[in-house]
Formats: sequence, C-alpha cells, structure tokens
Amino acid sequence: MERITLAQAVKIMLAQVKKIEEKETVSLWEAEGRVLAEDITAGRDQPPFARSPLDGYAVRSADIRGADREHPQKLCVIDEVTAGHVSDKKVEKGTAVRIMTGAPIPEGADCVIKQEDTDYGEEEVLIWRELKAWENYCPAGEDYREGDRLLEEGRTLGFVEVGVLAGLGREKVTVYRRPEASVITTGDELLLPGEPAAPGKIYDSNLYTLVTRLESLGVSVTDKGRVEDEAATVAKRLAAAAKQADILITTGGVSVGKKDIMHEVIQILGCERLFWKIAIKPGMPTLCARYGEKLLLCLSGNPYGAAVNLELLVRPVLARLTGKKELLPQKKPAVTDSGYPKRSPVTRYVRSVYEDGHVRIAKGSNDSGILSNLCGCNCLMEIPAGTEEVREGEMVWVVLL
Ligand code: AMP
Ligand code: MG
Repeated sequence: MERITLAQAVKIMLAQVKKIEEKETVSLWEAEGRVLAEDITAGRDQPPFARSPLDGYAVRSADIRGADREHPQKLCVIDEVTAGHVSDKKVEKGTAVRIMTGAPIPEGADCVIKQEDTDYGEEEVLIWRELKAWENYCPAGEDYREGDRLLEEGRTLGFVEVGVLAGLGREKVTVYRRPEASVITTGDELLLPGEPAAPGKIYDSNLYTLVTRLESLGVSVTDKGRVEDEAATVAKRLAAAAKQADILITTGGVSVGKKDIMHEVIQILGCERLFWKIAIKPGMPTLCARYGEKLLLCLSGNPYGAAVNLELLVRPVLARLTGKKELLPQKKPAVTDSGYPKRSPVTRYVRSVYEDGHVRIAKGSNDSGILSNLCGCNCLMEIPAGTEEVREGEMVWVVLL
C-alpha cells in the first residue's frame, strides 16, 4: 500500500466518524468542558427585581433636587433593607429607606444616594447632593430578561457558562455524552508501573501518556491495559472494548518485524484496513482499520511517535465526534530561533517550544523512541516533506500541543 499524506489519513478516518447524538444530564459540577445539548432560555429576569448597587438610601430624585453641602435636604428614614430581604414600605414624598448593596429598591424610590453623600442619619438623614431619576438604580432584567436565549445547543461549557446556568437556578444540564476510547498497549517487553523491573523489559509509558492525554481532551477511557504480543489475545481484548468505545487505540506491533502482530489482529477481527503508513515522521507505520462501526487506530509503540500521532490523528476524530472545533490541532506561524539541518523526505514533526511568535527546538534527540525531552515542549514544529534544511530566522508552522 502506498504511503498517504497526513491530510489524506485524516480524511479517510473522518469519513467513518459521526457526531455523537446521545445525550445525558449531568450536575453543573460536572459540566465543564461538556457540549450543551439543549438551548438555554432565561426563565426569569436577572436580576429578578430592581436592586441597589451600593450602600445608601433609596429616595425619590424629586425630593433631593438642588441638594448640596450648603443646602442639604432632610428626609425621614422609614425603614432599613439589606440584601436578601424586602421592605414593605413605600418611599413617599420626604422619606427615604436605608438600603444595602443587593437589596431590592422599595416601591416609590427612583434612585439610591450613596451613604458617603449623607450624614448617615438613622431616623432622619441629611442628603448632600442631588441625583437624576434612575441613578444608582439597577433595574430588573439588567443582565437578561425572561425569554432571552442565553446559550445555544452545541456550545462548550466553560466556567462562565456554568455560572450563567447556576444564575438561572439550574442544578443540572443536558449535554452530549463524552467520546469513549479504549487504549491497549501491546508488547512482550512491557511492564506496568509498580511491577518489578526484569531483564529485557521496559515500563509501559504509552498507556499513561495516551490515557492521560485523552482524558485531558474530555474523552472517557472505557478500557485501558497492556497485552502481550499475542494476536488472538489482543483481538479478543479489542472485540470486548469495541462494545463501548467509539475509537480503539493501540500502540506497538505495526511495523514489519516478527512480533508486529497488529496486521494479524485486524485479520482475526475481520476489519477493513483503511490505511497503513503515513508520510510523516514520527509515526510512519500507523495502521488504521474499520471494525464494524468503530475505528481502530494502531499507533507505533515508540513513545514520541505514539504521542505525536494521538495529537495529529485522534484530535480531528474527537473534534468530529463532539463537534468541538477547539479539539482540532491548532496551527500557528512562528519565526524559528533554531535551525534544523537534516533533510526531511516526509513531513517531520519536531518537539519544540513556542513563545511570542517564536519557536525553538528542544535540546536533545527528536527520535521517536525518546520521550523525556518532550517535557516542557508546547508544540511540534512542522517541517514539510521535501525540505532540505530549516534555517534560523525562517517562518515555520507549529502545531500547538
Ligand atoms: P513497536 O512499535 O512494537 O515496534 O515498538 C517500538 C519501540 O517502542 C520498541 O522499542 C518498544 O519497546 C517501544 N514500546 C512499545 N510499546 C511501548 C510502550 N507502551 N511504552 C513504551 N515503549 C514502548
Ligand atoms: Mg513491539
């Protein structure tokens, strides 16, 4: 099979993926990052009553016309109202109600004089300045009115949206279910963290990198684990995982070695192979198949390759499943402060740090088996296929991590 480009690979995968339509109701405490599955319309005005924006006296502007330090206006204080309480008094000619921030403005008053412009009187108060009608007066519905459309279906809920829902008195919200994935790592050499070290063995980092990343992107990982290089065992595990997951992700066993079992696994499962090998580095040997309605994406076992391919290949799938555009890999132009002397026969992704329009390549190797110097990187520098050399000061594209 011919190597395809990254764009072709993504297109092939997206042709198999539909947006998730199943909904569920969650507590507002669990709503952050979820996609709203209902339109939200205000059931009442916010605020629901006219309220005072400050501590002072609710008065009639007509009563204090012309008042100043030399000519204070004396009013009779008939009540006191604090936030959360309602005065049953009406402000009539010559009267005032002592009022605190957030309290409902009593009937009859059309402005609130701040206490610093008075003598703080308790029974009678001297007012030292005039106000226009509706000054220092927050009307009901100032934020939004009953019937206003506040949030549209399809919007991702962030902390502000969660606050708006809480302000409506909502405790729960209807959202689309999260995308579900399984992550199975394969390799006879793999030990799980916590197991004793042994000759010829290495610890499984991919399981942790990929699951952690998927969860940070809002994915629910429904099955995760390590399986030895045994095609039948891997196939059985994937068949079980496919009952729930939207996408099955594996690492290892996709090259042409003796233990590169994933080719056999897709045969056992009766999958339709969609592609094998993408013209990118790292991650060239990536294998993708369709298993029933589900996508099976088999990534290289090399830790950097697996991580980069998750970003480049899985994020577009997640964007399609959820409708969240922000899940697409984000690209930015940047001036490179590092050169890259090697020829790039295929598009190359080099671990780098982006800052203020500039990018620099991380120190150390960019080999696909090297993970530790990806720590601290926040992007991948994209070097297009056919580039002879990247020189310092050139414009490049980076893919943000
Ligand atoms: P493979 O893709 O199976 O040929 O593996 C390529 C390289 O990645 C080998 O050196 C493996 O030992 C290593 N590798 C495979 N799977 C993992 C994993 N889950 N965690 C860390 N390294 C791995
Ligand atoms: Mg292997």
